[in-house]
Amino acid sequence: MPSPFLTPGSIAQANDVALLHLRRDQTIPTILRATDSEHDGYKEGKVSNTRFGSFPHSTLINQPWGSQIVASKVDTGSRGRKPSNKRKAEELEASATTTGAEDDGSSAKKPEAAASGFLHLTYPTPESWTLSLPHRTQVVYTPDYSYILHRLRARAGATVIEAGAGSGSFTHAAVRAVFNGYPNEESATKKRRLGKVCSFEFHEQRAGRVKEEISEHGLDGLVEVTHRDVYEDGFLLGDPKTGRSPKASAIFLDLPAPWLALKHLVRKPASGIESPLDPSSTAYLCTFSPCLEQVERTVRLMRELGWLDISMVEVNHNRIDVKRERIGLDCEGVRGATVFPKSVDEALSKLLTDDERAKRLRQAHLEGTRVNPSSREDTTREPKDQSTPTYNLGRLVHRTESEIKTHTSYLVFAILPRDWSEEDEQKCRQKWPSDK
Ligand code: SAM
Repeated sequence: MPSPFLTPGSIAQANDVALLHLRRDQTIPTILRATDSEHDGYKEGKVSNTRFGSFPHSTLINQPWGSQIVASKVDTGSRGRKPSNKRKAEELEASATTTGAEDDGSSAKKPEAAASGFLHLTYPTPESWTLSLPHRTQVVYTPDYSYILHRLRARAGATVIEAGAGSGSFTHAAVRAVFNGYPNEESATKKRRLGKVCSFEFHEQRAGRVKEEISEHGLDGLVEVTHRDVYEDGFLLGDPKTGRSPKASAIFLDLPAPWLALKHLVRKPASGIESPLDPSSTAYLCTFSPCLEQVERTVRLMRELGWLDISMVEVNHNRIDVKRERIGLDCEGVRGATVFPKSVDEALSKLLTDDERAKRLRQAHLEGTRVNPSSREDTTREPKDQSTPTYNLGRLVHRTESEIKTHTSYLVFAILPRDWSEEDEQKCRQKWPSDK
């Protein structure tokens, strides 16, 4: 099954994962189901209930991605359908649901909102998935993972080791980075190396849930999830001692104690088991740790184990909010008109002396009108400024957004060169004989 994360095509198909985009900061992930087997096979399929109305999946399936979909006239949210099994219940809880098959939590509280709105049907991307996925742990956000994947040289055909998988946020970004553009079966015939993410997670339920999501998202074969304590058992696939090597060239460790896993990431493991690293490539490593003590321990061990080019980066991603600021002293008058001064000087010139203010308040009291005693403006007239061009309405100022969705951590990068043997040296000399 092609994954809508990698090759969405132009039309939303049944069983695709889709993101129902309600507004800038609210998106609901859902799997499009033509019939709702969990709820007696309703013919309109599964129904997503949102604050903007109910959306039977029959109105979403076979629509072009990006379509604006109008809410159903039928109030499908009021049936009070309940999730019928535990997993479904957890899923609903994770996406802040309260009633119905899928719900953004508002339709039960605001039944009048049903059938009043619309949404946009969008295909998933790692970025939008990161913002809408059910959080089971802290996750790595886009500003960090885009930089990490770039530094790890995660490119088409590469193999990435990741631990722990957590909520699968990094997993989705990594698989897109290494996808070689061909469905699994075609990779072999086209002789393209199949890019792969080998993901390890020691929490059993989390590992199980990531596995299910990978399957639901059509990413089987490209992501292999292993339930494993990597500190103890390392990174081989299958059996920890005799299993296959993933032959990874990139490793990302988002673990509480990454230094405990480093002993397994060597060219020649002491116990004689196979190395999980690709022998023909440099290995690129990144660890993600929230505090400097963890960084120090990691760096110390990296040095002992021969990792080179060690560096630390903190990605400090700020969204900057740019707006025109009109400096205070609004002059609210009897008709509610508000006139803003254009500069600080103008604002100051409008301030009245204490005497003038007192006189004005007395007058207003006698006339029974509302005035702003601080303003020199004649508040009973319409503002003169209605035709003022926007650029003249105030100075442009910028502020950083107060709530930034990024898990601040220190990223430690290092590389481990490939082993170089006498045989490699000879091969090299044959290829470039003039090199001394
Ligand atoms: N990178 C993930 C994401 O973007 O969604 C989040 C990872 S979360 C912060 C850390 C995960 O590491 C947790 O799910 C935890 O269960 C897992 N973990 C901790 N120690 C582990 C170990 N020894 N082996 C494997 N996984 C481990």
